[in-house]
Amino acid sequence: MTALVVSGSNNIFIVEDLSAGDGQKRYVECRIKGKVLKGVEGFYNPLAPGDRVEVEEDPATPGKGQIVALGERKNSFVRFNQKGQSPQLLAANVDLVLCVASPASPPFRPRFLDRLLVQAEYSGIQGVIVLNKCELESDLDVAERLEDFNRIGYPVFRVSARTGDGLDALKNLVGGKFSVMVGQSGVGKSSLLNALAGDLALRVGELCQKYDRGSHTTTRATLLPVPTPEGLGWVIDTPGIRRLVPHGMGANDLALYFREFAPLVGRCTFGLSCTHQTEPGCKIMEAVDAGVIHEDRYESFLRLRDELAQGTP
Ligand code: GDP
Ligand code: ZN
Repeated sequence: MTALVVSGSNNIFIVEDLSAGDGQKRYVECRIKGKVLKGVEGFYNPLAPGDRVEVEEDPATPGKGQIVALGERKNSFVRFNQKGQSPQLLAANVDLVLCVASPASPPFRPRFLDRLLVQAEYSGIQGVIVLNKCELESDLDVAERLEDFNRIGYPVFRVSARTGDGLDALKNLVGGKFSVMVGQSGVGKSSLLNALAGDLALRVGELCQKYDRGSHTTTRATLLPVPTPEGLGWVIDTPGIRRLVPHGMGANDLALYFREFAPLVGRCTFGLSCTHQTEPGCKIMEAVDAGVIHEDRYESFLRLRDELAQGTP
């Protein structure tokens, strides 16, 4: 049967049987057949929520099975795992990266959003900003930064898991789609998912916890069904990220993943060899001076560029 990976830890994966009828949720606990699966080389973890797999169910013990093949991956969202020194798959086959932030407690961190958005661009996935705790005041000029994110092409949703503000709009957004929710811990990802998915989230959460043997709890991502007026949506809940090191790109192609920089790449006087740091006739620096590129975004670019150039995570 074809199945959807819901969660995985310690090499036991929970998958949802996609051949079960509509509204019929049927989960199977799987191991990978043999030791390796084709197409997963080089990753810290072989499968992520959102992956499609072929499963052979054990006729003797229904509800248990073996994963025999991985379906083609449309895209994947990864973070670099410093402990494992390799990329860790957080989600596969998603339409949206929901970058969750808060105006206060924890403070708004636009630079962190830039990192998430760069990774989303690199993966070819649309980034969306979700400002949770929107009822809280902030010391920073959050509205000004959000306006700029919106201007450069990232939709912004202001919501509150506490007051319920904006949740209908967020539901409409995720209906009929696959999304991955990412952000620092404490911004309210779990609260939002509980508000969106309700009982369903609890049920899946409990199911997956049953298979957790403790050690991997903090690195696990889980796919949750979200009932919406537009039909079911799917949201992948990820563990809180403290630090995100962009993965897969080099210092010299970083500008391509800053959405508003990308059209200018190659147009500087020094062409593709321009580092956009000191060169005369740099179109990107000119755009910063002209206010077309926000100074904060340029600052993020410089820091990330340095990190990538040094190759130190
Ligand atoms: P996570 O680490 O991102 O999953 O964050 P949690 O969902 O655990 O929430 C962290 C804290 O923020 C908890 O104390 C929540 O009660 C609180 N919180 C979540 N959503 C809101 C909100 O919309 N407004 C306010 N004021 N607090 C919230
Ligand atoms: Zn330049």
